[in-house]
Parts: sequence; structure tokens; C-alpha cells
Amino acid sequence: MIITIDGPAGAGKSTAARMLAERLGFEFLDTGAMYRAVAWACVDRNIDLTDSAAVTETASTIAIHFEEDRIVCNGRDVTVEIRSPEASHAASIVAAVPGVRLEMVRLQRESASECDCVTEGRDQGSEVFPNAECKFFLTADPQERAERRLLELQNRGQSRSLEEVLSQIVDRDERDCTRDIGPLVMAEDAVQVDTSGRTIDEVVDFLENTSRERLDNPNRTHAWPRP
Ligand code: C5P
Repeated sequence: MIITIDGPAGAGKSTAARMLAERLGFEFLDTGAMYRAVAWACVDRNIDLTDSAAVTETASTIAIHFEEDRIVCNGRDVTVEIRSPEASHAASIVAAVPGVRLEMVRLQRESASECDCVTEGRDQGSEVFPNAECKFFLTADPQERAERRLLELQNRGQSRSLEEVLSQIVDRDERDCTRDIGPLVMAEDAVQVDTSGRTIDEVVDFLENTSRERLDNPNRTHAWPRP
């Protein structure tokens, strides 16, 4: 079974997807980390991010491994490095390169081919796994998304202003929504979940119940919040 969770930056997808996977005993695929790893490898090799051919070549030769909650790229643990605001920005630039997307989509399909998986990103329900059994699209008010991102950064010892984080989120969403290939879009058959003002446990409870019901009854539709 494949469960997809898509949505804009800071909507709570990663935390929710990781917790949902744990509760269901599924694998978890963080596809944003893959684009971040490609950007990291490009910066590490001094590649100009606007050089599509060189960026695509990097994406095709990179070795990305997930080890529990760590991400290892070309043998180096880059878990912390790929989470900075600069890395987020760079990831959204390389993610707009068609050759990079082709390669990442191939890897994502390969990773999920032989397991039950919760996969999280921007295009998982719409492009990568159009036949996924259960699809969610998480949203939240931009101000709240920026506040959550700010808290995450502060917890990692990185200080930024709320205005700066908000403007970076808006800028990244704009780039993710307007690219030609694999844009951020809600799949027609996805369940939209507005996480504004909700605790992570409330959100994951809904995702878990909906997923379990879908497993038992594939044609059922769901509304959020529950009536
Ligand atoms: O989800 P996360 O913030 O880690 O993603 C970083 C960037 O990677 C996004 O802004 C987006 O540009 C790109 N991305 C993507 N498709 C995905 C996942 C992430 O284009 N499936």
C-alpha cells in the first residue's frame, strides 16, 4: 500500500508522515530530502545551480541512502546540513530541472516498489504514485507555517526573523507551484487536511484512521475535520 502526503513548505508533512509510517509499520520516504541532497552535492562540487546539464549529471550519479532518520549522500552524513534555509532555497532551484525530477521520480518509484510506504513531498499523489491507495494534501495558514519553520530552526540553533522565514516560504511555494514539471498540486482524489490550529497528534490520528478505513473500504471518501 502507498500513502502519499503532499503540500506546501511547513504544512507539517514530514512530522506527520514519519509518525503515520511508524504507527502503521510502513516505510517512510522523505522525497524533499532527496532534492536537498542533490542541491547539497551540487554546492559541494561548486556546480552552478542554473547549469541544468551539470545539475542533472549530479542527480544521476549521486548515491543517496536513508539510514533510520539520517540521510547519507555520497558517503557523507548530510542530515543537518541539508536543513538550512539556504539548502531549502537551493533544493527548490534544482527541483525545477526536468532531468533531476526524472531521476528522483525513478528512484522514488524504485524505493516504494516492494514495501508499504508513506511518501511525502509535492508531487507524490499527482505524478509519482497516481494509483496510490490513499492520498492526503496538507495545508496550513502561511503565517502558521512560518512560525513552525522558525521554531524548527531555533531548535537547531539557527536564528532567523519570522518575516525572513515567511518570505522564504512564500518564495519557495511560488517556485514549487509554477514549475513546468511536477508542480505542487493537489491530486483530484486527495483528501485535503488544513492543519492550522491543530496539534500534530490530531492530524496524525485523522491520517491514521482514514488510512485504515481506506484499506478496508477503498471507495470511501473522507472529510476533514471529521463531521
Ligand atoms: O519538503 P522539503 O521542504 O524538504 O522540500 C525541499 C524542496 O524540494 C521543495 O521546496 C521542493 O522544491 C522540492 N521538492 C519537490 N518535490 C518533492 C519534494 C520536494 O520538488 N516531491
